[in-house]
Amino acid sequence: MGFVYQEVRLCGKKGEPQSIEIRLQPHAGRRGQCGQCRESCPGYDQLPERGWDFVPLWGIPTRFLYAPRRVECPEHGVVVEHIPWSQGKRPVTTAMMCFLARWARRLSWRETARVFQVSWEGVYRSVEWFVQWGLAHRQLEAVESIGIDEIHWGQGKGANTFLTVIYQIDRHCRRLLWVGPRRTQATLRKGLAALGSEVVRGLRFVCSDMWKPYLNVIAAKAGQALHVLDRFHITMHLNQAVDQVRRGESARLLGKPSAARLKKMRWKLLRRRSRVRGHAREKLNALIGSKLATARAWLLKEAFEHFWTYKSVLWAGGFLDYWCTRALRSRLEPMKKVARMLRTHEELILNWFRAKGQVSGGAVEGLNNKIRVVTRRSYGFRTYHAMEMALYHNLGHLPEPPSTHRFC
Ligand SMILES: [Zn+2]
Repeated sequence: MGFVYQEVRLCGKKGEPQSIEIRLQPHAGRRGQCGQCRESCPGYDQLPERGWDFVPLWGIPTRFLYAPRRVECPEHGVVVEHIPWSQGKRPVTTAMMCFLARWARRLSWRETARVFQVSWEGVYRSVEWFVQWGLAHRQLEAVESIGIDEIHWGQGKGANTFLTVIYQIDRHCRRLLWVGPRRTQATLRKGLAALGSEVVRGLRFVCSDMWKPYLNVIAAKAGQALHVLDRFHITMHLNQAVDQVRRGESARLLGKPSAARLKKMRWKLLRRRSRVRGHAREKLNALIGSKLATARAWLLKEAFEHFWTYKSVLWAGGFLDYWCTRALRSRLEPMKKVARMLRTHEELILNWFRAKGQVSGGAVEGLNNKIRVVTRRSYGFRTYHAMEMALYHNLGHLPEPPSTHRFC
């Protein structure tokens, strides 16, 4: 490597080492390499000794000590030599940054910092470097299908509490491609630009919700791709509508005997009937048999499941029309709202059948769940940027920087 160990010192009291210092020096007779082009160059002078944190050995904090040389490159002038374990001015070796970044996937950042006796900032900077290397070196050529979604993050319902995410949802590779704050047209345009126009032009399928800003941008930027409104989002809208009917009715019936039927029914109503068993099933059946508005809403939702069984676009379209007519006559405002929404986006919804078998509806939902695990895990993110780094780190399937030593 051009460097040799000059001295290894255990510092601290006898039998109780506090730190290990590894002093390095250049290999005798070997010239330094230019820090920019790596050409071997004549020496110029030597800078004062610096320290870099290395991976702790036997649990003891370990440091590299080295006095970098400056070399005189014919092309770049007087520059600091290339030091293989160092990244710019960072006081940490690349091996240690890789080590911390890998552990930061298994433990929270705070735990990682505590276990390896570094600062939280140190873990954060390591993950950041690791992720940025990965983003710069990842391959995007084979991306054919993407899913676009909004994720609620933080408290409240303001525009700033949403993230826009772009996933790759191809069968061979499912990963987070991009994440950005808010859920506006500008956000999505920025995300697609980050993927590059070549990737966007090569897309065959785009999967998203009915969120208007997204629909506009997708139509403008990826018009060649088949745009699918996926099953998971439509089911979500139906479930939300049933829940709204239940809440409204609960409030109206407050104090009356029939209100008891609606008690503790929220999750039973959101699940599919076949997934509700035992005593819960009996309670659900009793509610469905009643004349409550919630029962009618639930029956409409359950009837819609049939939609997904069609093979032909024509027949599916016929069913959609029939279902919407029924819902619009139901006198249940939330269900009518869903029906109007489905009618407006009929063509995009029917694209599900045109893309059948080629787009996985569950992929977006699965990745969303993984995102929630990361955003909720108590990493103690202090900034949006830190959370963004954690998301790429855990869900981006990024390539990893090469490292001279591998410890985990
Ligand atoms: Zn050079």
